Amino acid sequence: MSGRTLVVGGGIAGLVTALRLVKRGERVSIIDGETTVGGLTRPWDIGGVTWDRFYHVVLASDVETRALLEEIGLIDRLVFAPVKTALYVEGKLYPFSGALDFLAFPELGVVDKLRLLATIFHARYSGNDAAYDWESVIEYLTRWSGKATVERIWRPLLRAKLGDHYATASAAFIRATINRLQGARQRGVGGEQYGYVRGGYAAVLAALEARLRELGVDFVLGSRVREIVAHDGYVRVTLDSGEIAGDRAILTVPSPVCAALCPQLTAVERRTLAQDRYFGVVCVSLLVNRRLGNAYVTNVADAGFPFTGIINMSALVDRTQLGGYDLVYVPKYGPPEERAFTLSDDVLIAQATRGLSRIFAGFTPSDVVAARVARATHVFPFPRLGRAQSLPPARTSLRRVAVVNNGRLRYATLNVSDTIGVVDAALTELDNDPIWRYAHESRALAGSR
Ligand SMILES: Cc1cc2nc3c(=O)[nH]c(=O)nc-3n(C[C@H](O)[C@H](O)[C@H](O)COP(=O)(O)OP(=O)(O)OC[C@H]3O[C@@H](n4cnc5c(N)ncnc54)[C@H](O)[C@@H]3O)c2cc1C
Repeated sequence: MSGRTLVVGGGIAGLVTALRLVKRGERVSIIDGETTVGGLTRPWDIGGVTWDRFYHVVLASDVETRALLEEIGLIDRLVFAPVKTALYVEGKLYPFSGALDFLAFPELGVVDKLRLLATIFHARYSGNDAAYDWESVIEYLTRWSGKATVERIWRPLLRAKLGDHYATASAAFIRATINRLQGARQRGVGGEQYGYVRGGYAAVLAALEARLRELGVDFVLGSRVREIVAHDGYVRVTLDSGEIAGDRAILTVPSPVCAALCPQLTAVERRTLAQDRYFGVVCVSLLVNRRLGNAYVTNVADAGFPFTGIINMSALVDRTQLGGYDLVYVPKYGPPEERAFTLSDDVLIAQATRGLSRIFAGFTPSDVVAARVARATHVFPFPRLGRAQSLPPARTSLRRVAVVNNGRLRYATLNVSDTIGVVDAALTELDNDPIWRYAHESRALAGSR
């Protein structure tokens, strides 16, 4: 008989943590404030189409995601297809997918293009990311790409992703972004191949939850965690409604939430967790009855477009799964106190529709069949200088409480595969931690007496 571990957060990190533990014979409860699991990957309904509320693709290099799909019996539903990329800059839309597009791109001279290629190669193959954690992203890009390319391409793209805070971001961020995108090129012939699971993340979550239930995981949904207190021999989790006790708690929620939930943490621990300033996202989804180009991603380097870019899911996913429409996402990332987070759905939808009309000739608001806005306040920690060097250990001073969240990603942009990788690394760290093991084993022994 073993003790019970309480996993706080039922996003991918929490679900995978539970899967790893229950497969070793541990008893696990997953607690999530929402009534359904999945966190950022949760689906919703838009105009009768069920798909992810935030866009998701699987890359050829996403080994952990593929292993998970294999494990839950969905690998046959993973479909890869070539995708195109576009760039909207200086009021014009350019194809930006392969070498030919790049050579034909008129906004940069030959030398600038060579330097841009050198930047990508350097980010991809120079290794030793730690050295770049302390270098500012602008310094790094200016050194490799030159001033003209920074002004014309990089600065607007960084501003689109990180708002006006981009200048204080570390070079490790752009290197991780380049690396992830280059990971998609492995399978394509001179271009990218992206993958998706037929049925979207709704199918993934349904299979994963069914597997967890079959293995005996207990789900406590629809009640937010308010406080976690460690006692001698057990942990007590206070919810909006009621309390749960367990031997140990593993927190997979964002770092500032961990700090707020655990008043017993030391001042240093709470400061370290709370100083991770998370960026959120406001994402307009539009179901449209006209073809909006053939690019999956259109990066927009234009100060007049108040969003990060445009993602057309129908450029990848078979349209029969999307009601025959184009499903287009128009996201805006930023700190949750930023203005975009205070705007109403109607205002955001009108802004997105206006922006698309400027970029895609002939598109008008009457082409929109359905529109919804998704918001998340905690998506990824801002990649500040030196951040990767100051991550705390997984186990906290509370002995029975550990933090295994995506804030532990060091040199990667947020994605499902690396989130799973972080969980696995943290669980290994905890397995090798005698204090953590003791918190579990002593209770299990007591239970068996
Ligand atoms: C716009 C967007 C696009 C993306 N695109 C891709 C992509 O193309 N490919 C890819 O691989 N990844 C993508 N991702 C990233 C992917 O969604 C994340 O890596 C992954 O979902 C993170 O899972 P998580 O469990 O770490 O966090 P979350 O999903 O945030 O889960 C945290 C959970 O904790 C719960 N919670 C929080 N506070 C409390 C509380 N007090 N009490 C109880 N429960 C609480 C929440 O309800 C949530 O369910 C994208 C993300 C976004 C936002």
